[in-house]
Amino acid sequence: MIRIPLSAPDIDERDITAVCDVLRTSQLSLGPKLATFEKSIAEYVGVSSAVAVNSGTSALHLCLKALGIAEGDEVIVPSFTFIAVANTVRYERAIPVFVDIDRSTLNLDPNLVESAITNRTKAIIVVHTFGVPAEMNEILSIAKGHGLAVIEDACEAIGAEYCGRKVGGLADAGVFAFYPNKQMTTGEGGALVTNDLSILKKAKTLRNQGVGRSGDWLAHTEVGFNYRISDINCALGISQIARLDQILARREAIARRYDAALKSLSDLHRPALVLPDRKISWFVYAVRLAEQFSSTERDWIVDQMRALGIGLGRYFGPIHLQPAYAGDQVDALPETEYVACRTLALPFFNRLRDEDVDEVCERLRCLVRSVRPTGQRT
Ligand SMILES: *Cc1c(COP(=O)(O)O)cnc(C)c1O
Repeated sequence: MIRIPLSAPDIDERDITAVCDVLRTSQLSLGPKLATFEKSIAEYVGVSSAVAVNSGTSALHLCLKALGIAEGDEVIVPSFTFIAVANTVRYERAIPVFVDIDRSTLNLDPNLVESAITNRTKAIIVVHTFGVPAEMNEILSIAKGHGLAVIEDACEAIGAEYCGRKVGGLADAGVFAFYPNKQMTTGEGGALVTNDLSILKKAKTLRNQGVGRSGDWLAHTEVGFNYRISDINCALGISQIARLDQILARREAIARRYDAALKSLSDLHRPALVLPDRKISWFVYAVRLAEQFSSTERDWIVDQMRALGIGLGRYFGPIHLQPAYAGDQVDALPETEYVACRTLALPFFNRLRDEDVDEVCERLRCLVRSVRPTGQRT
């Protein structure tokens, strides 16, 4: 039995009341909570508008559609990320072009982005991996030089800042996700944010079956989707975003506790707690085994910890190595593969107790010390 899970939602009494209040009304969708939630997201991020949808994946898909990404277009993406990033490119029969990451930030390496650009490249999806802001200045300037659109996938990074500005609002459009393992949740949900009125209009139309601005439900100006989010979910989102800064502070405190407790383990690489010009929004706490270890030892540690009742994650299985992407032409991604097979995501959620952090670290210390790079245990 898992006693200390990898992730758990944080729902308080005010959240529950907010959700129940919606259930007592007659507007369960496209109602006042949707408008209020969108306004609070836009204000929090510091952009002119937000479009709330039923998932982060939907938000990403709407960005690509709104930017006109179409069959045969190339979109630069990381492989060391969640599969939705490449899948949404595929939805449009466009081609995800995988670019390697920088080992220290786990984000796209801007030096490699430029050389991946061809005359078919239309956009870059830059992901703020694990809540660490990506090298936006470099990426935006490369994009500008080549006339490319930039989408920020900030699904793991709500509240993170880059040079004093919240991520998500730094490029043409940004997306957030509110699945229960994220910093804040709506159960299921996501949002697109932008300062661009034409992206906003397009996204709103596509979210609701292509219903145009007239609002006439039977006037479909284009082939859209049902990516609507209910007012029930939005009420939860409004309640959660109101205490997001508290949530992020607690998560940072947990990260610091992990950092202090694991310092003495030289075979374990810890994520940086601070980075110049950036404020991290802690999504997960992922450590990395040293070079002499491989996935065999990593997987053994995950299994041993599970047997002790502690849930560990293997973030991420690189997208280009997934069976669904087996046919893709992919250049070597040595950093992605190096990092992916050595990473251990530790239990990390708002309500994780200090004593749980201490126990996880104690058990992990024992296991890491007992594992030998050859795969033999002492
Ligand atoms: C969570 C996540 C998404 C979207 O998640 P949904 O489950 O569709 O809400 C997209 N990109 C990244 C990087 C994510 O971590």
